[in-house]
Amino acid sequence: MFEIDKLRVDPAEPFDISKHDPGDTGLAPGDKEETERTSAELELKIDELQELLYAGHQHKLLIVLQGMDTSGKDGTIRHVLRGVSLQGVRVISFKRPTEVELDHDFLWRVHSQTPAAGEIVVFNRSHYEDVLVVRVHELVPKEQWKQRYEQINAFEKMLTENGVTILKFFLHISSDEQRKRLQDRLDDPTKRWKFQHGDIEERKLWGDYMKAYEHAIEKTSTDWAPWYVVPANRKWYRNWVVASAIVRTLEKLKMEYPQPDLSKEVIE
Ligand code: AMP
Ligand code: MG
Repeated sequence: MFEIDKLRVDPAEPFDISKHDPGDTGLAPGDKEETERTSAELELKIDELQELLYAGHQHKLLIVLQGMDTSGKDGTIRHVLRGVSLQGVRVISFKRPTEVELDHDFLWRVHSQTPAAGEIVVFNRSHYEDVLVVRVHELVPKEQWKQRYEQINAFEKMLTENGVTILKFFLHISSDEQRKRLQDRLDDPTKRWKFQHGDIEERKLWGDYMKAYEHAIEKTSTDWAPWYVVPANRKWYRNWVVASAIVRTLEKLKMEYPQPDLSKEVIE
């Protein structure tokens, strides 16, 4: 078993979020510096594997990033995918749905953004908001959001049966860490633009969000689309975990460059 697999949420087990320490760094290959060196190597590996994926035009990779405000969704993308070719990779950020989107089912806007052959797509927030913020604020009646866990599992199963490999990461920070990071956003002129007044209101609902995450992860960590719970208080550890899981997953696809028969081609 690969070390990183220990952070996968076992579909057969109940999931207790309080047993997962956001400050943990237990699986790191070394101290901060050493881990950062390993991550840089993993990131190069991701670039190579992405090129293979693109060349092969067969597999599709969907990476879902979820986490509370300031948990590091943007930073993870910036680090882990820093070297990939812009061809063949898309990042999609899901914001509050528009009127038109709200007039459709909740997966409508999501489905059209899923990866095509040879593509890697990263969801910065995702259809999981429809069982997180929507549940916490009761934006739709309970009878409706309760049905969504099964609908999500069926949707993700359909995607995997159509060539999509799905990796889902919950970037798990502590409430204390969020306080520090929000304060940082207020204090730093280069980060202040990210601060939204609503962030403080949402923070008051921390407990409700943790329950919603716990429930969502328990119900939707499946054999075909597993959740990884990423201890994310330390950015260097978070980046290493996500990079490792991506490399491990892409390597399992055993991709090779296509070798078309060009034996009759002559270059004059
Ligand atoms: P940010 O990620 O900071 O740019 O904020 C995006 C906001 O959009 C967050 O507050 C999300 O909770 C919100 N959002 C994303 N998807 C949904 C959804 N399906 N329903 C309601 N709010 C959403
Ligand atoms: Mg925000």
